[in-house]
Amino acid sequence: MPTAVCPGSFDPVTNGHLDILARACELFEHVTVAVLVNDAKQGLFSVDERVDMLRMVTVDQPTVTVESFEGLLVDFCRRRGIGAIVKGLRAVTDFDYELQMAQMNARLTGVETVFLPAAPEWSFLASSLVKEVAAGGGDVSGLVPPLVLDQMTRRLHERREPA
Ligand code: ADP
Repeated sequence: MPTAVCPGSFDPVTNGHLDILARACELFEHVTVAVLVNDAKQGLFSVDERVDMLRMVTVDQPTVTVESFEGLLVDFCRRRGIGAIVKGLRAVTDFDYELQMAQMNARLTGVETVFLPAAPEWSFLASSLVKEVAAGGGDVSGLVPPLVLDQMTRRLHERREPA
């Protein structure tokens, strides 16, 4: 199949996301990273900031495009002619929800979901955990790209000491 989408919040992108993305690029001719706009959930970074960071860290991957989307993922896929959704599975806790979503999406438009097992070195990694540890002063270098680490450190500092 020529095209796929890797959807998510990416607040911020981690090395776990990038591993799944790189592996998706081995399977598909083109991969769109789709950042979900969720007005109900305030992130550490705005959607535009997340898209910018993703674009910067994937600049050397010519078959990757980064965009944001609102509404249903299946509608985004239909508009773009994207044939598959790629998801990483970290643990059984991911599986229940992801299976339900995959079955619903298949029912809605017939789009297929491809599950890739998380790499063992990143299977504990989630954006929320990275933010929590970084906010507590823990060392998260090596879990996110250096550019993301810089921006996260700056943002957390601004939050602690507003100008
Ligand atoms: P989270 O906030 O839980 O990190 P996102 O919504 O940003 O999740 O993640 C988008 C998708 O990326 C998830 O559905 C999951 O499939 C995948 N993913 C996230 N973290 C990892 C990881 N460490 N290893 C493999 N896949 C991951």
